[in-house]
Amino acid sequence: MERTFAIIKPDAVERKLAGKILARIEEKGFSIVGMKKIQLTRQQAEGFYYVHNERPFFNDLCAFMSRSPVIVLCLEKENAIADWRTLMGATNPANAEPGTIRKDFAVNIEENSSHGSDAPETAAFEIPYFFSALELV
Ligand code: UDP
Ligand code: MG
Repeated sequence: MERTFAIIKPDAVERKLAGKILARIEEKGFSIVGMKKIQLTRQQAEGFYYVHNERPFFNDLCAFMSRSPVIVLCLEKENAIADWRTLMGATNPANAEPGTIRKDFAVNIEENSSHGSDAPETAAFEIPYFFSALELV
């Protein structure tokens, strides 16, 4: 079993797409082991995305991620990290496969509805950034 970290981003929560995205997660066999709705501060968004802090899109990304609430999730299944990336689709919805969350729901490359850890080391940073051990059940 493997755990990954996911976010239903502000654009999707605002458009009331959280339920549809959660249904896809459960249909694909993920167990939701942690879930909460929070609103990130600008500083929390910057800390979460620190690996991108030299990128040209960093400021806009952090403003977007802190503008309204998100749903943060810890998901568990075999091969969870890669399988959640597959279910999300490519970062740019224009390049995402049909049937993926980003193809079906994303607004554009920034407002792309979902986040997923890209490697075990990333998940090991991102899960405890948002969840204490007691919140994962
Ligand atoms: N992003 C953006 N412009 C870009 C690339 C990325 O606004 O050119 C945003 C987008 O919301 C993306 C996030 O920054 O999901 C993190 O980028 P990353 O390359 O890690 O993509 P992901 O892992 O989310 O697919
Ligand atoms: Mg990434």
